Amino acid sequence: MEGKERKLENASGPKVLVVEDEPTILEFLETGLRYEGYDPTAVQEGKRGLELALQGTFDVIILDIMLPDMDGFEICRRIRERGLDTSILMLTAKKEIEDRVTGLDAGADDYLTKPFSFKELLARLRALLRRSGHTQEPTELKAAGIILNVETREVRRNDQSVSLTPTEFELLKMFMQHPRRVFTRETLLNRVWGYHYIGDANIVDVHVSHLREKLGDKPPRLIRTHYGVGYSFHPEEAV
Ligand code: CA
Repeated sequence: MEGKERKLENASGPKVLVVEDEPTILEFLETGLRYEGYDPTAVQEGKRGLELALQGTFDVIILDIMLPDMDGFEICRRIRERGLDTSILMLTAKKEIEDRVTGLDAGADDYLTKPFSFKELLARLRALLRRSGHTQEPTELKAAGIILNVETREVRRNDQSVSLTPTEFELLKMFMQHPRRVFTRETLLNRVWGYHYIGDANIVDVHVSHLREKLGDKPPRLIRTHYGVGYSFHPEEAV
């Protein structure tokens, strides 16, 4: 993906420009954002990022500070100098308070220190989009008699309250957002546990098993196992 920009043509969610020179993080963000219904454009060079940002077509910009050609502070300043009010979330590898202050002074709306969880990033993006008046993702997801409220984090099935752990909640949310999509355990690990998670993919099986139990998921399964691959969600086949 080096030096290239990739773009999904049919996406309709909020447009996000991601400027990050670290390929692993860039790819992780781009893939993750796309799964979540965002419309990401990923670039590795600061100058190219600035050029795109100045077109003024993005809803939010995720901007790394340490870039080889032009740093995030400079990009941020130039965007603001042009009078653009696009929401900017800065990424920093440093924990120093000066970075945070410099970033906010340069006109950033928020910042996130690496390593961060994808969940945390999504929460920040949602907050930024809300503040700038962009439409939110639906508050409630409904399928197979399950109602999942994204805001209150309450889950009900057939009008019975279901008490889930935060991890089970995120898993269910992801399944409900993407019915019939087959998720590998690695994808689920990345998306629910975060890219810095280091451990055994079997942890996914354990949490899916708990989730099924709590949902009363009996064959034919709502959450289907694809042996050696992962899982998919099939609301139409639930009993
Ligand atoms: Ca960097």
